[in-house]
Amino acid sequence: MAELGSDIHRAAAILKGGELVAIPTETVYGLAGNALDPVAVTKIFDTKNRPSFDPLIVHVADTDQVYRYIREFPEELRKLADAFWPGPLTLLLPKKDIVPDLVTSGLDTVAVRVPSHPVTRALLKVLDFPLAAPSANPFGYISPTRAIHVEDQLGDRIPYVLDGGDCSVGLESTIVGLEQGQLIIYRLGGLSVSAIEEVVGPVLILPQSSSNPKSPGMLKSHYAPRTPVVLGDLDELIVQFGRQGEDFAVLSFTKDYQGIDDRKKVVLSPEGDFGEAARNLFSGMRFLDKAGVSVILAEELPEKNLGKAINDRLRRAAAR
Ligand code: AMP
Ligand code: MG
Repeated sequence: MAELGSDIHRAAAILKGGELVAIPTETVYGLAGNALDPVAVTKIFDTKNRPSFDPLIVHVADTDQVYRYIREFPEELRKLADAFWPGPLTLLLPKKDIVPDLVTSGLDTVAVRVPSHPVTRALLKVLDFPLAAPSANPFGYISPTRAIHVEDQLGDRIPYVLDGGDCSVGLESTIVGLEQGQLIIYRLGGLSVSAIEEVVGPVLILPQSSSNPKSPGMLKSHYAPRTPVVLGDLDELIVQFGRQGEDFAVLSFTKDYQGIDDRKKVVLSPEGDFGEAARNLFSGMRFLDKAGVSVILAEELPEKNLGKAINDRLRRAAAR
């Protein structure tokens, strides 16, 4: 199994040797390798069973470093970087040749982010290359928000998991790009749309396409537990599935459903706090996925603040 520890220099040595390390970020844990080394990048795709058409996010220590990898930084995107980096925001920028085509799946843009997690920031500072890092989970499954989630799923495939505690945001980054002067959100995530619009005005949210997405974070079925998920009005669903004699679990926003076994229910945030709900979402789905039930019943949150991104993940978990 992978060694689990908090030794930045050990992680750096493994990465310099061309191997992979799982790293903590404020969004989710990443499966990191040298972004400039095509062999390391290939290992990332292989380890996750990730299809090669799904490009990777490149993580850098600070905004200045980004210029090494991009041809230009359009003003609108730079404004967002100045406002939200380090943080859960990924920007799509025109790439320089130094970034291997493997990283971008042949696209002319590279996805870049400055993460805020102190452990990974310290790691990036001692490296002289950026880190390509998709979420550290098998492709399509729920993203990991704790070191132990990575150990459970990829522990036999990587040498080291850098443990940085629980992820403070718990949702993947929000991905923003620019096409013909129009700012576009390609994936809803840990930075809310309203926060972005306060800085740059109205943006376009790309609807989730299903089969041939530009951004596979856009795949219709993704971030999914193995147990089927049904979304709807929980009061009704509980009655309906109860009547059918089905063994179900319940994922609710604020309400604690009495009479349901503690091992079969998760309340995302009793006080209705969106940030807390986001932090608890993926670990809650994992917990219920292990409950041995035949279906997970869940409800959408109000479509505001991080509720938008949480609902996006719930819908895709429910898509089959
Ligand atoms: P993950 O790291 O697993 O959260 O996935 C990263 C997401 O960023 C994927 O859904 C990618 O498709 C998306 N992405 C990365 N690079 C690009 C790009 N150049 N254009 C569009 N989407 C991208
Ligand atoms: Mg992912």
